[in-house]
Amino acid sequence: MISRAGIPVVDAHSHFFGAHTLRSWAERGRTMESFAKRLNTRTDMRGFELPDENWDTAQRWVDELDRYGVEAMGVMVGDDAYAEFREAQLRFPGRFMGFRNIDPAQPDAPAKVREAAHDGLRGIKLYPSSWRGMRVYDEAVYPVYDECLRNRLVVFLHFGITIGGQADLRNGNPIDIQVPSRDYPDLAFIIAHFGAGFFREVLLMQYQADNVYMDSSGSNSWMKYMPYDLDLKQIFRKAIQAGGSHKVLFGTDSTFFPRGWRFNVLEAQIAACRELKAEGVLGDEDIQRIFHDNVLELTGLKQSPTL
Ligand SMILES: [Zn+2]
Repeated sequence: MISRAGIPVVDAHSHFFGAHTLRSWAERGRTMESFAKRLNTRTDMRGFELPDENWDTAQRWVDELDRYGVEAMGVMVGDDAYAEFREAQLRFPGRFMGFRNIDPAQPDAPAKVREAAHDGLRGIKLYPSSWRGMRVYDEAVYPVYDECLRNRLVVFLHFGITIGGQADLRNGNPIDIQVPSRDYPDLAFIIAHFGAGFFREVLLMQYQADNVYMDSSGSNSWMKYMPYDLDLKQIFRKAIQAGGSHKVLFGTDSTFFPRGWRFNVLEAQIAACRELKAEGVLGDEDIQRIFHDNVLELTGLKQSPTL
């Protein structure tokens, strides 16, 4: 499948919120109001659609993927949406890769990881800045990594700044994953949004570890908060020079409707990579890796040509 951008595309990082979740937010009116305000000031969303009785999350996303010619999307799945997501996977084989949100503080966290693997999900998502009293390098989290390793699941991590108003940024530094990445050399750790502000740390990790990856998802608006000028082209250049093209996974962080699948994110990132190609930094095979192959290889959906 060739996308509207002219190349095959798999989105490594988006979100699957079920009707139930969206409705429960609407019911908690105050949360909704402050959330809407944060969306307005910090994202390109000017509102979001609430589900009616005919709402069909899976069908809506597949329609979006078809519209833009996108093969598949990797989605973060919370407990609220888990059952709905499993159904979506069965209805639309090959269109969704699931990454289950895991809170390691829950006693059944390792069991949930096992269940996710059993149900055909491809990885987990950790969100350390939402944790209280726990760090990604704590021994208490290791049973979760053990299960991921045993079941060949990848580990997505959101470090850095976040739209979640209750975040604890002390837990936002990607350097925190260095010791686990050392202790689990066969586990792939994928840092979302190029570290969302902690880009320097993600680059340093490329020196330190071979199993720390980054996804490009979202608008990368964290650039605005850097003390120096940075644009997408520079980010891709630095990421690739530090880690190689096999370390970067394209993603959009698509989340809500009516915004739908963020084709503008693909357009901006492919434009940046095409400029780098014109400068001889990237070749076509690198672009193919970033926008398509890397995520499929890491999740075992496609055989790596180098193996
Ligand atoms: Zn996300």
